[in-house]
Amino acid sequence: MRTPRKDCFHRIEPLLGKVEKPSRYLNHEWGAWEEQEGPFHACLIYPDVYEVGQPNLGLSILYEELNEQEGFSCERAYLPWVDMIGLMRERNIPLLSLETSSPVASFDLVGITLAHELVCTNVVETLDLAGITLLAEERDEDEPFVVAGGPSAWNCEPLAPMFDAVQLGDGERSLVAMSRCIRDGRAKGLSRSQILERLAGLAGVYVPSLYDVVVDKTSTRWGYAVPKKGSGAPEVVLKHCVPDLSSTNPVAQHIVPYMGVVQDRFAVEVLRGCARGCRFCQAGMTYRPVRERPASQVIPAVEEGLEASGFDECSLTSLSTTDHSECELIVRTLKGKLSERGVRVSIPSQRLDSFGVEMASLVGSSRKTGLTFAPEAGSQRLRDVINKNVTEDDLMRAARNAFRNGYRRMKLYFMMGLPTEQDEDLLGIPRLAEQVIKVGREELGPRAKVSVSLSVAVFVPKCHTPFQWAGQLPLAEVQRRQQLMLHAASDRALRITYHGSWPSLIEGVLSKMGRSGFDLVLAAWKRGCRFDAWADQFDFPAWQEAAAEVGIDLEDVACEQFDLQARLPWDHTSPGVSKGYLQREWRRAMQAEVTHDCTMDTCTGCGVCPNLGVANVVVGDRT
Ligand code: SF4
Repeated sequence: MRTPRKDCFHRIEPLLGKVEKPSRYLNHEWGAWEEQEGPFHACLIYPDVYEVGQPNLGLSILYEELNEQEGFSCERAYLPWVDMIGLMRERNIPLLSLETSSPVASFDLVGITLAHELVCTNVVETLDLAGITLLAEERDEDEPFVVAGGPSAWNCEPLAPMFDAVQLGDGERSLVAMSRCIRDGRAKGLSRSQILERLAGLAGVYVPSLYDVVVDKTSTRWGYAVPKKGSGAPEVVLKHCVPDLSSTNPVAQHIVPYMGVVQDRFAVEVLRGCARGCRFCQAGMTYRPVRERPASQVIPAVEEGLEASGFDECSLTSLSTTDHSECELIVRTLKGKLSERGVRVSIPSQRLDSFGVEMASLVGSSRKTGLTFAPEAGSQRLRDVINKNVTEDDLMRAARNAFRNGYRRMKLYFMMGLPTEQDEDLLGIPRLAEQVIKVGREELGPRAKVSVSLSVAVFVPKCHTPFQWAGQLPLAEVQRRQQLMLHAASDRALRITYHGSWPSLIEGVLSKMGRSGFDLVLAAWKRGCRFDAWADQFDFPAWQEAAAEVGIDLEDVACEQFDLQARLPWDHTSPGVSKGYLQREWRRAMQAEVTHDCTMDTCTGCGVCPNLGVANVVVGDRT
């Protein structure tokens, strides 16, 4: 029998004085939707704490879209922090939604955002705390349909046994279609399996239980998925794509949190997709084609959103905002309209050229704290391998421009362990940074306080990218290369920080494995793993024990290079970019040949446009 819907706030209220940050659990924030009239209730969950999940723009877009539909009501839930989870489990209190404090298990649809691989054990914790049967195939007729989506849904196989369905691609229209399908199916008295078969017929919807995993000599050891005989499920699930972003509501986020959250500002998505073609970047491949919103839509949307929410900062969000053909018009107009009201405009990433610095200076306040650039690799050869089309001259010009504009600090992002990387490429990283410091001293004087910090992450190969066949660096090699860079850095104005190599290894393992990866995730969760993205919670020995239990070696899995012709665990899903294109790009990478951006030149044949019947939507001139 379905868990009844009822307000259970009275059960967590007495706990609020006993936990850290009780405002994480308070409902009725300014701008949140009230429960809507109608028979269908959905709960969208970000499986991390409130302050991390609340600003997520993807979830906000879906929340808004579903609530705007007549007859559908959508709420949110976040995973409580460990102190609250402990108290809730002691008292048998299940996970509750935020808006109406209803048990999550009482909803018709539960949607889980997969923002990155390290959220895996939190997904198990979320469903377990909610009291929802963990395995989709064992769920009762009356239990909610558990649906996943988000950037890491592209290789969801290690979590797939928990999901009734997985949404691939743009979610705003797709989630509404799925909700209607479930509502109508239930109204007609269809069984759960009949509804799942109907869901599998919708664009961009993958139903894992309708697929078998086959391991044979054409596959990697993790196998590949094929539709079960007679299921009617497609061999390859193509993503859902909104062809024209301007046909969707640009304002997705009015909610004003009670507490400080990780991105405490109003956000508008100004464009979706990026065609620069960085070969390591999953978002660059899976969000294609590029779709810009016109300035005439962005500017009023920002004004309206700020008016409704009262935020004093607005972020123009996308994968590459400064690539928007009307970026300057948008930024200058907003700056003119908003600066007198003390409202800041921010751009999440800077392009590595003078235009990027110009836009950053334009939006930056008088504080001029620092600028961030991502050259990603230390030598031109390796930047060509990864198709990061920037040169050392671009970086130095951008740095000089930034110092001239009053910036004194710079943060540079790099990766280590990229395919074909040699020591000389790595030694180029501190050398580049010291060049930037030198430029800063030339511009600001020899005694000026210039500083550069380097953030060096371990490269993790991701599915549906040209580097999906690559292996990751072994831990000992990561450490050797980190030491190599540290010893090569001599200037005291240079600071190097490394991302944790153990979490990166787990990320790599989960990016590579197929459906049998679920045994590993479950074994790790049973050993207490959760909040793996939090350094103080991450428990590598527990992951090692879990790996031993399921008979795998973590390094062996993450470092394995796949054969270019092998059938991969995620080949039954497609963002529209063809596998042939990815193989071509891999070969070009090995020759250090670059591929141009199709929004500034001709089509490079990635396949998205013909496969999905869409095209790049560029409102102005990018060239
Ligand atoms: S099909 Fe061509 S034009 Fe379309 S996104 Fe791919 S490379 Fe660009």
